[in-house]
Amino acid sequence: MNSQTKTIEMPNAEGRFGEYGGRYVPPQLETILEEITIAYNALKNDEGFKKELHALYKDYVGRPSPVSYAQNLSDKLGGARIYLKREDLNHTGAHKINHCLGEVLLAKKMGKKKVIAETGAGQHGVALATAATLLGLECDIYMGEVDIAKEKPNVVRMKILGAKLIPVTKGAKTLKEAVDDAFEAYLKDPVTQLYAIGSVVGPHPFPMMVRDFQQIVGMEAREQFKEKTGKLPDNLVACVGGGSNAMGLFTAFLEDRGVNLYGVEPAGLGLQAGGHAATLTMGTPGILHGFKSYLLQDEEGEPLNVYSVASGLDYPGVGPQHSLLKDIGRVNYVTIGDREAIDAFFELSRTEGIIPALESAHAVAYAMKLAKELGKEETILVNLSGRGDKDVDFVVAKYGKDYGVVM
Ligand SMILES: *Cc1c(COP(=O)(O)O)cnc(C)c1O
Repeated sequence: MNSQTKTIEMPNAEGRFGEYGGRYVPPQLETILEEITIAYNALKNDEGFKKELHALYKDYVGRPSPVSYAQNLSDKLGGARIYLKREDLNHTGAHKINHCLGEVLLAKKMGKKKVIAETGAGQHGVALATAATLLGLECDIYMGEVDIAKEKPNVVRMKILGAKLIPVTKGAKTLKEAVDDAFEAYLKDPVTQLYAIGSVVGPHPFPMMVRDFQQIVGMEAREQFKEKTGKLPDNLVACVGGGSNAMGLFTAFLEDRGVNLYGVEPAGLGLQAGGHAATLTMGTPGILHGFKSYLLQDEEGEPLNVYSVASGLDYPGVGPQHSLLKDIGRVNYVTIGDREAIDAFFELSRTEGIIPALESAHAVAYAMKLAKELGKEETILVNLSGRGDKDVDFVVAKYGKDYGVVM
């Protein structure tokens, strides 16, 4: 078996991707996570489960999402041809619905009554509330008070969808404290609840499970791209926060050694401490939230403050499989700063009529750079992980006048 085959079949039974991943949790939680792993391993090969999930993807999410050739943008740049995998066209506007439906369906099959989760910017909360409503489960979302004030539209959405929003008032009142509180609530009743993690992070089996639920993105894209061009793409580009949309696109191509893979991390205001969230580029291996991976951490192993204009990329850790893919050199991890992302946000809007999520704009920005370095015969497929509706007010208030948008 060659090393690429192994990366696809990973993780091993302990949830290890090389030295990364695993489970660093209290014994009580260990037992619960093992139960979830066993249930998931049985269901993932169950024809009924696969059929049900596929029907949800097709009839509810609107899959397959198209692959669009960004001809205007490509012509303007004069280099490689850029194609977009349109996860922005999914119901709820991003890729997150893919794994939320998977997690809620799993919870339902396991006889759980409720899914619970934390949310930072509210994107995971909205996607999970949507999936829970559809499948008839209760949904508790923990969110820091600071984030509640900042992310009003998503807070309103979660409430309209019938989720219970629990404000977190400890410490900095943002994502990290929300994780702590959600975790505590979960441990009080792990029998009737399932903790639904929002990316390819956390203890085993979540990095594997969320990746598996997202790999539909790359499986579709591989076929669509071949049908359109007769070949595989030469390059894939996806933004990396926790890493779920990137794993979703990359997984189907890991064995295609001719396909170059680029994961784009947020350089924020620059790569000095506190100004970015470029975990793989600047971090070191460590343990956070129950798993081992690259982290942005201080000497004591405490997570550093991180920042990006895209709140969905703003996390001091990263999925453990990405850490392995970095070490073995299969994926190139690169960075894009706030300003380049904002430029790409307007550029894609004004050439293609597609307003991207700020997270996805990081991937578009890197693809634009790469396109200029490559010839017209080369192709780049970008995962357009979400749409920018959630970001337009913020972008225009902060950057609008630089782009001639004055309200
Ligand atoms: C949450 C989010 C991301 C970042 O999460 P990953 O797990 O790294 O994919 C990227 N794009 C959009 C649109 C998001 O909502």
